[in-house]
Amino acid sequence: MKRDYAVIGLGRFGGSICRELSMEGMEVLVIDNDEDKINEYKNIASHAVIADATDEASLKELGIKNIDHVIVAIGDNIQASILTTVILTDLGIKKITVKAQNDYHEKILNKIGADNVVHPERDMGKRIAHNIISNNILDY
Ligand code: ATP
Repeated sequence: MKRDYAVIGLGRFGGSICRELSMEGMEVLVIDNDEDKINEYKNIASHAVIADATDEASLKELGIKNIDHVIVAIGDNIQASILTTVILTDLGIKKITVKAQNDYHEKILNKIGADNVVHPERDMGKRIAHNIISNNILDY
């Protein structure tokens, strides 16, 4: 089923999500406050917009309310990540996935109503550890 997605923040994580969703034929709106990032993704995503995601009026203007699933991939700026997530939960976005930078950030994101909190480095480390174990078992 085709759904509309928005990716906020085009670091390695957000950029990779945007590329994959776009390759799967999904409608993706990308938002970043860095013009260079937006230029990099304007031919990949369906819509690419320079905006500060902590500005509620800008998000409303972009029609974020009509998006099924928003991914907040703002990394280092934890304050911006939290504020953006609060705005999205207040607007009643159906599904919000947020990248957490550390355990405290993750705890706050869960408290303020993020549906799915991901911690890419940690989650990938766990997966790889399990793969290593299962490959070792298969090797015997
Ligand atoms: P990765 O490890 O995935 O590259 P990162 O932790 O390095 O992630 P950052 O570079 O900190 O990620 O941030 C990701 C993107 O979020 C950047 O392109 C940055 O311009 C954007 N960003 C930061 N703050 C805002 C904001 N308030 N509104 C919109 N975009 C923002």
